[in-house]
Amino acid sequence: MEGMITRKKKIVVIGGGFAGLNFVKHVDLKQYDVTLIDRNNFHCFPPLFYQVASAGLDPASICFPLRRELRKLHSPGLAFNMGEVKRIDVAGKAVYTKEECVGYDILIIAAGTTNNFFNMPQLEKSVYTLKSTSEALRCRNDILDILEKAALEKNHEVQKRMLNFVVIGGGPTGVEIAGAIGEMKRYVLPREYPSIPQDNMSITILEGSDKLLGAMSDQASRQALRDLDSLMVKVRLGTLMKEYDGSTVKLATGENMPARMVIWTAGVTGVPFQIDGTDISPVGRGNRFEVDGYCRVKGLEDVYALGDIALMTADPAWPKGHPQLAQVAIQQGRMVAKNLNAAVNAERDGDTVRLAAFRYKDKGSMATIGRNRAVVDMKRFHLSGFSAWLAWMFVHLISLLGMRNKLTVLINWIWAYFNYSTSLRLLIHPCRYPLRRRWMDD
Ligand SMILES: Cc1cc2nc3c(=O)[nH]c(=O)nc-3n(C[C@H](O)[C@H](O)[C@H](O)COP(=O)(O)OP(=O)(O)OC[C@H]3O[C@@H](n4cnc5c(N)ncnc54)[C@H](O)[C@@H]3O)c2cc1C
Repeated sequence: MEGMITRKKKIVVIGGGFAGLNFVKHVDLKQYDVTLIDRNNFHCFPPLFYQVASAGLDPASICFPLRRELRKLHSPGLAFNMGEVKRIDVAGKAVYTKEECVGYDILIIAAGTTNNFFNMPQLEKSVYTLKSTSEALRCRNDILDILEKAALEKNHEVQKRMLNFVVIGGGPTGVEIAGAIGEMKRYVLPREYPSIPQDNMSITILEGSDKLLGAMSDQASRQALRDLDSLMVKVRLGTLMKEYDGSTVKLATGENMPARMVIWTAGVTGVPFQIDGTDISPVGRGNRFEVDGYCRVKGLEDVYALGDIALMTADPAWPKGHPQLAQVAIQQGRMVAKNLNAAVNAERDGDTVRLAAFRYKDKGSMATIGRNRAVVDMKRFHLSGFSAWLAWMFVHLISLLGMRNKLTVLINWIWAYFNYSTSLRLLIHPCRYPLRRRWMDD
């Protein structure tokens, strides 16, 4: 009716990762009010967490403030609220964080995944993980701490025990972090830690299946084995970890392996939520929300799930669901935004809405194993070695948010390529005045 003011629908987005942020950037902010909620006030770039963990990059180079990113969209109806959503009430159409309750007309769940310890809760306390910037930083600080302490140790047997690194999982993250620690052993130890003989440090990948990089080609997998070997990383295929008590890894075979640091990259599970106001359980395999071909959560009204947390089996090429990759999240974010734009326009014009179902455009996959070495699988060709490494660097650089971040990362990589020193190996312990006890006692 002419002259009548209609309220804009409110969309709440949980998670400002690849899926959530791409959704916000493509949804029509003139037609919808949008509130983005994230537990961090920054967007981060998980493919480079392993470089933060191995002191190759500083966290600020791979993170970008969400408020700054949203400001660029110049929309008064767009808000960012920092908070961790724990509860979703689908009957009352509201989400809850510790600080507030936010109502919605349409809910977008794009919270990604967290670590899966496969019913071994004791691992949560003893292993290192790489699912967030904070986890990568913890890993980096403790690697540097271990190296400094080992450098003071005169007894070689004790020194060896202090320098046993075990990586669980031979997927891209496991291969990349093991390769990066291998580079530290090969290039950094002799230059900066002369009191640690190279042979006293050991890095081992344990992989349950019979190949590395299981989702990639056999060629990529074989090349990764060769590259890791040249970085003095041992790989044990068909080997399952059963337990880890903080100093010894127990294998399924009964064998014991000493391990000072275990980095767990073996599994992920959807971020858990308490869902109220419905009798149905919307989550399926991998604790992912089951969605139809348009990312609508099955059985729930006006609720969408995108990215890693969504399980879609309606895409004919991916009947078991899509791989949990950045490109899937980005493409789903854009697709759902476009569909919601089409829906609101059709409603306004009294037309029938024509929605596009999601079809994943696979742009290939890649992993890097130290400098000059990477593997790239594209639909029609495979690359390895230097050319793959250049391709890997290019793709990661253009995918980073913010020109400053792109430039810092590029300069860092060029600098580290020609001389292995980086000031990022500084070990700065947070403290406050008056100094905490540990500083007086240590
Ligand atoms: C170490 C590592 C390496 C990877 N390497 C690659 C790679 O090389 N190539 C590739 O394609 N993919 C890679 N991936 C996978 C890729 O990062 C994911 O597929 C992608 O990030 C999924 O995007 P998303 O938006 O679904 O989730 P995410 O990017 O994980 O974003 C989720 C967001 O939700 C927020 N959040 C989570 N829970 C809550 C909550 N309860 N309340 C509020 N906010 C919440 C988080 O803070 C985060 O900002 C890697 C992942 C990891 C962990």
